[in-house]
Amino acid sequence: MPAYAVGHKVPDSDSICSAIALSYLKTQIGEDVQPARLGELSPETLFILDKFGFEQPELKMNFADTDGIYVVDHSDRIQGPDDIDNTTVLGIIDHHKLGDITTSTPLECWIRPVGCTNTIIKMMYDFHSVEIPKNIAGAMMCAILSDTVIFKSPTCTTADIKCVEALAEIAGIEDYKALGMEMFEVKSAVAGTPVRELVMRDFKDFNMHGNKIGIGQLELINLNLVDDMKADLQADIAALKTEGDYHSVLLVLTDIMKEGSEVLVVSNNDDLTEKAYGSATVDGKVWIDGIMSRKKQVVPPLQDSLA
Ligand code: MG
Ligand code: MG
Ligand code: MG
Repeated sequence: MPAYAVGHKVPDSDSICSAIALSYLKTQIGEDVQPARLGELSPETLFILDKFGFEQPELKMNFADTDGIYVVDHSDRIQGPDDIDNTTVLGIIDHHKLGDITTSTPLECWIRPVGCTNTIIKMMYDFHSVEIPKNIAGAMMCAILSDTVIFKSPTCTTADIKCVEALAEIAGIEDYKALGMEMFEVKSAVAGTPVRELVMRDFKDFNMHGNKIGIGQLELINLNLVDDMKADLQADIAALKTEGDYHSVLLVLTDIMKEGSEVLVVSNNDDLTEKAYGSATVDGKVWIDGIMSRKKQVVPPLQDSLA
């Protein structure tokens, strides 16, 4: 059996493109590594795979009979494979807060505070002097544009920008920002999608000081696109909170042009957002100017406020 590269549950473009790019790199340096995914792909990710001619990675939930896994784009146990204890974690390549995955054997670890896992994987290609094929460069570039919201996210670093420029050149893409906008338009086409599917499209579980917190995010080019659905989205996160026995469920509706987010909130704590962000929730929602990044702006204050 080969080893696998696998991103987080509810895979996003970074998780999928990282798994593909890392598998190719590892194969080039003599390791048998295949990409895998832990769930269904979003329209944005399908757009990227289609654009650059990739098949979907294998849907795989059990890794016990493999040669091990490379964990990409996460390091929280709750976000990774459920049977992670039955396999060997060969490495972690990630750009989030350090999670609670641990190992019993030495591992390869590439963790950097940059905007995207694919930026780190580009560093790995450079380190190993492996040439990046055109189509992999295109997919990696799109993942970075997605994760950094075309460089608008506060998570974006100069390393990410330089990396996109280098990958665009390899992929032969002149106007990468236009391609980025095209991608966000695909991502913003939410009309007609079942409400639960939207809530779960980019959803992550967190264990914050013993409290189970779920945070979903939709990045849209205009929040008007969800005006008609807002009441249904609110009802759905309330239902999800009960079903999943959550302390709180948040749905972050990010307006990538206005560069802020409306957060829909259901919580055991009435003053959750007041304490975490200094803005009170009114009628189950609160607009917070400047908030674009879950990992950098939503999660840390919330985790601190629940301590
Ligand atoms: Mg991700
Ligand atoms: Mg990422
Ligand atoms: Mg994201």
